[in-house]
This record gives sequence, C-alpha cells and structure tokens, in this order.
Amino acid sequence: MKRTVVVTGSTSGIGLAIARAFAAQGDNIVINGFGDASEIEAIRQSLEVTGSRAIYHGADMSKPEEIEDLMATAAREFGMVDVLVNNAGIQHVSAVEDFPTEKWDQILAINLSSSFHTIRLAVPAMKEKKAGRIINVASAHGLIASPFKSAYVAAKHGIMGLTKSVALELAECGVTVNAICPGYVLTPLVEKQIPDTARARGISEAQVKSDVMLKFQPTKEFVAVEDVAAVAIFLASDAARQITGTHISIDGGWTAQ
Ligand code: NAD
Repeated sequence: MKRTVVVTGSTSGIGLAIARAFAAQGDNIVINGFGDASEIEAIRQSLEVTGSRAIYHGADMSKPEEIEDLMATAAREFGMVDVLVNNAGIQHVSAVEDFPTEKWDQILAINLSSSFHTIRLAVPAMKEKKAGRIINVASAHGLIASPFKSAYVAAKHGIMGLTKSVALELAECGVTVNAICPGYVLTPLVEKQIPDTARARGISEAQVKSDVMLKFQPTKEFVAVEDVAAVAIFLASDAARQITGTHISIDGGWTAQ
C-alpha cells in the first residue's frame, strides 16, 4: 500500500538515504532541507522513478510556523502523513564554557523541538486512522555522551524521552514511535565536525577519524547511510508493529562497551 512519508532534513546524508529507500518501495515522499535549488530538484525527480510522487518543502526546522506549513502541505497534497521521520539535525563542537548561546538554542530547536512540532501536527490524523509510524533519528549520543557536544547530547537525550512518552500515549492507537541511534556515519554533518574536533582536542584530522570517531566503534567502520535507511524501513513495516517506545542502535557495537 502506497504511504506518505515525510522525512525532515532529507536533502543530504541519512535523511536522503531514508527518502530514497521509501521511494524505492513506491511511497510518496515529502523531502525537506537546505541546499542548492537545482540539486534539490534533481533529488526530487530522482525519487519519482518508481511511480511515486515526491514534493519538496523548504521549511526551516527551527521555525515552528514553517514546520506547520510543511505538515499542512503534506496533508493537503497527499491526504495525511503515514510515516513521519524526524531526521533534521545539526552539530556544533565546542567546550561548554565557550559554547555560543545562539548555537545551543539552534541545536535544541532543530534536533529536538522540531520533532515535538511535527509529531503534534501528525498525530491527530494518525489517531483517527488508527495507523502511523513515527521514527526519530536520534544518535548513540542519545544514550551516551562525548565531551564538547553538550547541546547535541542534551537534544539527543531529549528526543529519546520524547520518543518514549509519545509512544505510551499512542500505544493503543496503532501508532508506533521509535528512535534509531546511529554511531558515526560519514555524512556531511560528520565531515564538517572533523576540523573543529581536531582544533578542540589539539590533534590532526586523521587522528579525529581513527582515535576519536572509530575508536569508539568496535567494528572500526563507519555506518553506511543505506544501513540506517534499512532500519527505518523495518520500523515502518507491519513486522515492527509491536516495537514501540524504544530504539534500535546501529553503531558498530559502540554502546555495548
Ligand atoms: P547531514 O548534514 O548530511 O544532513 C542534515 C540534513 O538536515 C540536511 O538535509 C540539511 O539541509 C538539513 N537541515 C539542517 N538544518 C536544517 C534546518 N534548520 N531546517 C531544515 N533542514 C535542516 O547530516 P546527517 O549526518 O545525515 O544527519 C542526519 C541526522 O542523523 C541528524 O539528526 C543527526 O544528528 C543524526 N545522526 C548522524 C550521525 C552521523 O554520524 N552522521 C550519527 C548519529 C545521528
């Protein structure tokens, strides 16, 4: 059955891989995120190859009124949102005493509060239909911490709490709410933090990859975006209907330590 899937922050990285995976199943997709307009249009068109429809909405996920327009547009174009994937996220690496306060606010808004807004807007139709899937892309940093990432770790721990609370509210409504907790995935978000981490720790960029990132990932490999997308597809499947209020880690063993 063709569903409508909203993936926030899907012009790049994990979100794009998730959008591609649902589109490959024939679902209608709403993509969102920043980037070059012609590149985004090429992405949008590439999502329609299986005969599904894809639309783009450029909502800034730090702005509640733009999130409202995103969700209203999805409902108007496709009837309702069947699968909501809260994925948009940013990072900033800095010692807590130097952490720019506007960055703190921005990370909390994009990585945590935006999911509250999309969820509150998606839930009424899901409850009425007695069906729905909410998937929050959290992080290994939703379960454990690293230094110099206070805002990110706080937001990701927050999304784990939001996931559990909303899952309980919707448990009898046919709607599941879960988180995915990836370890290090080599996307633009991670590539951008390599120079900052090198500076903050006083080490080389090569050392950041080997001694900081993959040091904690026992498989010593980055997670592939397609592997994260496969977890999202599973959580949205019928087989996962009794999985709710929890998370699936995909971190090469990081959080087993
Ligand atoms: P990415 O930088 O490749 O993609 C982030 C996406 O979010 C882009 O499409 C970007 O345009 C969009 N975005 C950023 N700010 C936005 C805003 N204000 N409004 C709308 N869209 C916005 O990053 P990624 O690595 O694919 O990260 C995706 C998610 O996965 C994030 O929530 C991130 O925290 C999480 N995650 C990533 C990793 C990793 O190692 N890459 C690990 C664990 C969790």
